[in-house]
Amino acid sequence: MDYLPLFFKLTQQNVLLVGGGNVALRKARLLCRAGATVTVISHQVCDELQNLLDAHAGISIVGEYHASLLEGKALVIAATDDNSLNERIHYDAVQHNIPINVVDNPALCTFVFPAIVDRSPVVIGISSGGSAPVLARLLRARLETWIPKSYGNLASIASSFREQVKKRFQSVNQRRVFWESVLQGQIAEKIFSGRTEEASKLLQEKLDRSDPEHSAGEVYLIGGGPGDPELLTFKALRLMQQADVVLYDALVSADVLDLCRRDADLIFVGKKRDNHAVPQEGINDLLVRHAQQGKRVVRLKGGDPFIFGRGGEELETLKAHNIPFQVVPGITAASACSTYAGIPLTHRHYAQSVRFVTGQLKNRTSDLNFEELVHPNQTVVFYMGLHTLPQLSSKLIEHGKPGDTPAAIVSRGTSSDQKVLTGTLATLPGLQEKAKLEAPALIIVGEVVTLHDNLSWFGDEVLAQNLIPETASKT
Ligand code: SAH
Repeated sequence: MDYLPLFFKLTQQNVLLVGGGNVALRKARLLCRAGATVTVISHQVCDELQNLLDAHAGISIVGEYHASLLEGKALVIAATDDNSLNERIHYDAVQHNIPINVVDNPALCTFVFPAIVDRSPVVIGISSGGSAPVLARLLRARLETWIPKSYGNLASIASSFREQVKKRFQSVNQRRVFWESVLQGQIAEKIFSGRTEEASKLLQEKLDRSDPEHSAGEVYLIGGGPGDPELLTFKALRLMQQADVVLYDALVSADVLDLCRRDADLIFVGKKRDNHAVPQEGINDLLVRHAQQGKRVVRLKGGDPFIFGRGGEELETLKAHNIPFQVVPGITAASACSTYAGIPLTHRHYAQSVRFVTGQLKNRTSDLNFEELVHPNQTVVFYMGLHTLPQLSSKLIEHGKPGDTPAAIVSRGTSSDQKVLTGTLATLPGLQEKAKLEAPALIIVGEVVTLHDNLSWFGDEVLAQNLIPETASKT
């Protein structure tokens, strides 16, 4: 982050604006809206700027800029087209420790003006740090259409009830839950449609009815998808942004985690192979304990919570403790990795069914039903199979699957370092020994893997093409 966004209180603060043309006028308008007392220094002050200053008790001085004008100023803005003058003003301001903005010259600025969406008292500032102002303006235009004009009224009504709500709910948490339901529900809609009085009445009723002692917690079991944050569902995002506590796994990507509510407590409960950070019972206990404290607990898992995610077990514990929950599906690794690798899991010619199978083998043998896995015309996807790949490969061949069946490893699917290694059932273990693709990785076995050659679209690293020509040309 090149600039820290802050909101500057300028009411009755003195601001120096150097320049008297149109650019200065635009800045002066903003400053006056923020209640600043503006002093303009310029050889010429345009009429409109003069009128604005007259209307807002501003001062205009016709003449030459001088460093003594900086005294007692909270901010300085240089809006002249004289580069050496701008540089001088910058230098003087920095000497006096006064924040300075030189219009259209980020190198000389110690602060920048964001593009503004004004729904006072709610104000949104968007900045590209001076690098792409047009982009910031485009984004502003989007927000302008998306945020109702009367959003500010919502903030005003919230402000008028603030003390009452504070008295009724002792804990910050309870207050937040109350406000979130007010600001997103029926009351907000009334305000957006201009029925402020009705909204006030409803808010009062809601406040009188609410029972601070029994605002129960809730658990949201959320599938965070395979890593790319754009693959989250809207619902996942909405609930993640309401979380008080987030319990997350090793498979949850940093980008996804970053979208949780800023103030939420993030607790890592990840399990890595052979290294159980928090045992399952410990996770169950944490879920129950936080929810019983009235918190909204997000249990965030990689992929889909019900596919090799032990999500079901966690919910059973919650059920036993009468804790309400919601489950949000996520895009499971098989779907995500296959699509991002250009390997359709089913295909009219190659595979009419698909199986998701765990590649974990107990005691190096397996309770997997290999007889079923070797059937033709199906795709088999192994989760957690990277370290057992040699055994999986030889078991499948042993049970009759042809050694030249196309097979692929998709490592770190959907991330910027996704890698795809293709070969055959017989060659893939050897190829992987050399390529050493990293976990998490998925193994896809079946004729559909041949399509990768033609349909690969994401990322640029394709490691090996070792397919048997006959399978590739089969239609
Ligand atoms: N619930 C998860 C699966 C958890 S099991 C889901 O629905 O996706 C963990 C296994 O998922 C890993 O061993 C790996 O095989 C697979 N996996 C998860 N994310 C992956 C990714 N981004 N790329 C490749 N494989 C992934």
